[in-house]
Amino acid sequence: MKHSNDTLVDIRNLKVYFDIKGGLLKRTVGVVKAVDGVDLEIKHGEILGLVGESGCGKTTVGRALLRLIEPTDGAIYFDGQNLAALSQSEMKPFRRKMQIVFQDPYSSLDPRSKIGDIVGEGLRVHGIKDAQERHQRVLEALQMVGLTEEHMRRFPHEFSGGQRQRIGIARALVLRPSFIVCDEPVSALDVSIQSQVLNLLKDLQKELDLTLLFIAHDMSVVEHLCDRVAVMYLGKIVEVASREELFRNAQHPYTQALMSAIPIANPKVRRERIILQGDPPSPLNPPPGCRFHTRCREAIDLCSQEIPPLLDLGSADNLHLCACHLRQPQPSGVERPTTTAEPAV
Ligand code: SF4
Repeated sequence: MKHSNDTLVDIRNLKVYFDIKGGLLKRTVGVVKAVDGVDLEIKHGEILGLVGESGCGKTTVGRALLRLIEPTDGAIYFDGQNLAALSQSEMKPFRRKMQIVFQDPYSSLDPRSKIGDIVGEGLRVHGIKDAQERHQRVLEALQMVGLTEEHMRRFPHEFSGGQRQRIGIARALVLRPSFIVCDEPVSALDVSIQSQVLNLLKDLQKELDLTLLFIAHDMSVVEHLCDRVAVMYLGKIVEVASREELFRNAQHPYTQALMSAIPIANPKVRRERIILQGDPPSPLNPPPGCRFHTRCREAIDLCSQEIPPLLDLGSADNLHLCACHLRQPQPSGVERPTTTAEPAV
């Protein structure tokens, strides 16, 4: 397996299936294919957004790549090492380098522990025995997220939602990781607080040269934060491109529907809102062919028969991958029409 020098994480054909047990004997009566053959590359120092509706498998990808959930199949290369082939004890040194910020800052902090202990827990687990050193490292992490030494002695209930998420970020930073999975870190917060936390993540990423996988369910959150964006639908990646390319020129019909839901601040500009019909089908029984065909307004007969491969559409500067039978690579020199909002007439 070859990796380019700037690749930190390289996920190959990742599958995560969950057995459904039923009956008195708890036999397997079905299999949920939460993640079904995902390829994804994350470069050193970038913020990659992973976007899709709830239940599409994006959180499962984030957790499987940290081995918090066991992958069913596939490879997860981190700095060239296949994590999927390691035992849990062999994973330990990698756990220092790879951290997670959880979605819900209310339930992810132990209400009976002081903030100093919550943030310092990882240091204890990783064998940093010196109490003075732990204190210093916890203080350093809290200061990075805008909190102070005085906060170390307080309990989670004394903080607002935004502050609790800052504590969650400090807990991830205390081990000085190089890679963090941010699992919908702002979706439980008030809109007024969301941008503060997003700006904090962006500043920390630059300052500490971090690589982030940023999981979100709507496009507007990733618009100002991410360098590249991957779109996921029912266990599969359907489109990947740089943020500029995706927001200027989304190609997959599902991505176009997500884009059309982003509010536009300028009243002179309007965009057709694409309303997706129905809910996503169950990953327990995904549709054959293109998994999006039951809701796609462009679907043709082929779509229900063959799975479209993820192909590079041949954008001039960047890789632009898309899995759709109706979007094929253009011959060189032919410009693809853009999909940005048009001024109202
Ligand atoms: Fe729609 Fe067919 Fe493309 Fe799938 S392959 S997104 S169903 S047009």
